[in-house]
Amino acid sequence: MNNIQHHVGGVPYGEIARSGAVFNPATGEQTATVAFASAADVAHVVKVAAAAQGAWQKMGLVKRAGVFFRMRQLLIEHTDQIAAAITAEHGKVLSDAAGEISRGIENVEFAAGLVNLLKGEYSTGVATGVDVHTLKQPIGVVACITPFNFPAMVPLWMSASALATGNAVILKPSEKDPTTAMILARLWEEAGVPPGVFNVVHGDKEAVDALLDSPGIGAVSFVGSTPIARGIYSRAAANGKRVQALGGAKNHMIVMPDADLDSAADAAVNAAYGSAGERCMAISVLVAVGDATADAVVAKIRERAESLTIGAGTDPDSQMGPLITREHRDKVASYIANAPSQGAEVVLDGRSAEFDSDGFFLGVSLVDRVTPQMSVYTDEIFGPVLAVVRVDDYDQAVDLINANSFANGTAIFTRDGATARRFTEDIEVGMVGINVPLPVPIGAYSFGGWKDSLFGDSHIYGPESIHFYTRSKVVTTRWPDPSESQLDLGFPSNH
Ligand code: NAD
Repeated sequence: MNNIQHHVGGVPYGEIARSGAVFNPATGEQTATVAFASAADVAHVVKVAAAAQGAWQKMGLVKRAGVFFRMRQLLIEHTDQIAAAITAEHGKVLSDAAGEISRGIENVEFAAGLVNLLKGEYSTGVATGVDVHTLKQPIGVVACITPFNFPAMVPLWMSASALATGNAVILKPSEKDPTTAMILARLWEEAGVPPGVFNVVHGDKEAVDALLDSPGIGAVSFVGSTPIARGIYSRAAANGKRVQALGGAKNHMIVMPDADLDSAADAAVNAAYGSAGERCMAISVLVAVGDATADAVVAKIRERAESLTIGAGTDPDSQMGPLITREHRDKVASYIANAPSQGAEVVLDGRSAEFDSDGFFLGVSLVDRVTPQMSVYTDEIFGPVLAVVRVDDYDQAVDLINANSFANGTAIFTRDGATARRFTEDIEVGMVGINVPLPVPIGAYSFGGWKDSLFGDSHIYGPESIHFYTRSKVVTTRWPDPSESQLDLGFPSNH
């Protein structure tokens, strides 16, 4: 069995004193053991990263940009290998795994523009002989703590911009699918990132707490569930660190009576059941405006969902793979078990699907007549379960969404431009789609939710990430004229 160690200073590091088991969700078999870092391991990696960071910061910007062009090429060339590693530990189908890599490549492409992104500002002649300019300097060592559901994309969201701005990175990937992080480490170094500038430590709460408490870490980027994100934000901020902690989601999709119901049903099936619903932007609530809309769209979703092929992610015929763990699969199933007693109507019951495997499979579920009090609505289920809430009009739909504590993504399906435009202004959610069910911004924009979906001030990747991973400095310059007296005890004035 494979033993996965940490990657520190360009080499494998650490003894496996404490460890976790890694499974193939499609077979249910353990495939690897991953080391869990102790506080002493974390102290070591912080020291190594800090020692390597200075030279990386000083590398000329044009030369540094070259690293990102090479990384882009390496990611393209290694897409099949990375996708295979993702599917083997996460379970998602290979095409979906390749899709997340292509989104991560967008972040590397954005970072390759670092010469432009790191430009400062300059004002000449603010007073006689006085000029002012700004510098953007790296934070130093940055910790990136990532979830299981995008083992390539989320580390690339963070590391591309953190490295481009001259920081050293310590990535703590999910212990459930740690292999992809090891491939990324090798590729960053092959692209030209010096040893020690991109490191990987594996582990659980012990490793994360040591990162949050380390005085050598200047900033923390976290993506994961809301309860953990909230705790990460409090602890890192209390320790004086810059922190962005992206949390969970409950993403609603409104279907207006005038929508193209066939494309709305296609979109709902793709966005609810793709990657087995284990996406932070997955649509988990469909808000149907009017009973006629609800009846029609539920029938269309049911028809499409019943024809889905569920199986191992390595099978090219599979459209949906297993869930990440047995425990998670059973927890998702429990929401379906509890839905009827709370008054909901289970239209499709994923528990009835049969699989010829010990993998963590579950069929897709569709639950109609859900109300905001039911657990299938209140909780982030993170599985292939779509809840349908029926409302009377647009205002009720918007009020429902705005009352939810999660506010990551949302979408509206309509043919009416005025309704769509009004929605973009009324809705209190970070990412909005108009006839787009998964409005994940391209790499040139930043990604992030509102309310309990993000703790901190800064969204992730794109322009906001350049701000997040740098500190600015303002320099005021004067070359005095030796013929003029410089003696003046008053407060410096530019007038
Ligand atoms: P998780 O919160 O369980 O774990 C995320 C990271 O935190 C992992 O590296 C894990 O090892 C670590 N961790 C877990 N428990 C911890 C603890 N008690 N103390 C410190 N660290 C801890 O999340 P997950 O199950 O890996 O991922 C799924 C969640 O991530 C979902 O809630 C999903 O919505 C969310 N997510 C959000 C976004 C976003 O952009 N908002 C993107 C992807 C995933």
